[in-house]
Amino acid sequence: MSQTVFITGANRGIGLAIAKRFHDAGDVVVAFSRSGDAPFATQVITCDVSSLKSIKEATEAAVTQFGAPDVVIANAGITEDGLFMRMSDDALESVITTNLLGALRFSQQVVGSMLKQKRGSILFVGSVVGLLGSAGQVNYAASKSGLVGAARSLAREVGSRGIRVNVIAPGFVETDMTANLTEDQRNKILSSIPLARYASPEEIAETVFFLSSDNARYITGAVIPVDGGLGMGH
Ligand code: NDP
Repeated sequence: MSQTVFITGANRGIGLAIAKRFHDAGDVVVAFSRSGDAPFATQVITCDVSSLKSIKEATEAAVTQFGAPDVVIANAGITEDGLFMRMSDDALESVITTNLLGALRFSQQVVGSMLKQKRGSILFVGSVVGLLGSAGQVNYAASKSGLVGAARSLAREVGSRGIRVNVIAPGFVETDMTANLTEDQRNKILSSIPLARYASPEEIAETVFFLSSDNARYITGAVIPVDGGLGMGH
């Protein structure tokens, strides 16, 4: 049976691969995009997840047109790295607002519509960094670990209504987000990954697809690493 999937940031990177995976499975993919087209979407709706107003308008339009989603994937995210002592307040605020508040506000706007269906999956795209920490990424790590507590709390609130809430924690993935690392940084990272390579966006998408499917129907409140072993134990 075809599912209705709401996903943020589906125009490039991991979100693009996730949208393609659901599109290939015949699902209705509603992409919430800040800029650009989302080629695998049934419909693209403009949405800036750093703005509550934009999230409200976009989700309202989507639910009116497509009904309640079966699958919600809060994927949009940014980095703005720097050592904490020198990090600007703008860098702190924008990363927390986009990655943490954006995901929470987006899911809050649609979860009510999902209750009646008595089934559904909400997935936050976290990061290995959320639990492992990373020098130069205090803001990013805080935003991603915040998603873990939020997912586990929401999982407790809506579990009895058949809605599952999980976090996927990718390691390093070949996207624009990691494209600017220097050769030196890249080699250092590679030496700490047991599988000695980055993930492809498609490898993350495959796990997202599984977690959102009925095959994962007994998984909720979980943090699922897809990180080549980088965060082992975290
Ligand atoms: P990219 O930089 O390739 O893509 C980021 C996506 O998020 C884009 O679609 C971008 O839209 C969207 N986005 C950013 N800010 C906003 C906003 N305010 N409103 C709406 N959309 C926004 O990153 P990735 O694909 O690599 O990252 C996707 C997710 O995966 C993020 O949450 C990231 O933290 C997480 N992740 C990535 C890892 C990696 O190694 N790449 C590792 C672990 C987690 P636009 O094109 O308009 O900028």
